[in-house]
Amino acid sequence: MSFQLPDLPYAHNALEPNIDARTMEIHHGKHHAGYTANLNKAIEGTDMDGKSIEDLLAKHTDNNAVRNNGGGYYNHDLFWKVMSPNGGGTPSGELASAIDTAFGSFDKFKEAFAAAAATRFGSGWAWLCVHKGGKVEVCSTPNQDNPLMPNTGCGGFPILGIDVWEHAYYLNYQNRRPDYISAFFNVINWDEVAKRYASGK
Ligand code: MN
Repeated sequence: MSFQLPDLPYAHNALEPNIDARTMEIHHGKHHAGYTANLNKAIEGTDMDGKSIEDLLAKHTDNNAVRNNGGGYYNHDLFWKVMSPNGGGTPSGELASAIDTAFGSFDKFKEAFAAAAATRFGSGWAWLCVHKGGKVEVCSTPNQDNPLMPNTGCGGFPILGIDVWEHAYYLNYQNRRPDYISAFFNVINWDEVAKRYASGK
């Protein structure tokens, strides 16, 4: 049993001009492919082989290769899915209500999420997570950590994530991380985020 690199759910150039095709090619074809291959290497021939990625992240992150590459495998799979060429706009239904309850308004949520992404020092991710009962919160993690791992300072089930490693934006945005974060809101697939909300609440 080994993990497979998932296909991108759209063409490399589908998110332009918000995210350029070359960045997507390298990010998916080199970085995500690398995490996937190195995760397989880390678990091959061990008692971790055959376990779900969720199980590995919850119970085996004392192994650094599993932590970094398992996190990279899971985080990027989520990242491709929560973006769409038809994305942007605002959420609706229960998710919109949960965001309003937690932050006061969609604009306040946007400020909190953008701030978490902009102030993550070095490489990492910012997240919107849902807790059992439906409460949502924003948090951020370093490296390829994520909220499914114990003791990251982020909890709950991740429903939206933005990659703020330089490899996610440097070709197009250079050092302008805030511009990339702002463009990310144009491609958020709120239908997918709402699905994850419903499954994690
Ligand atoms: Mn990445």
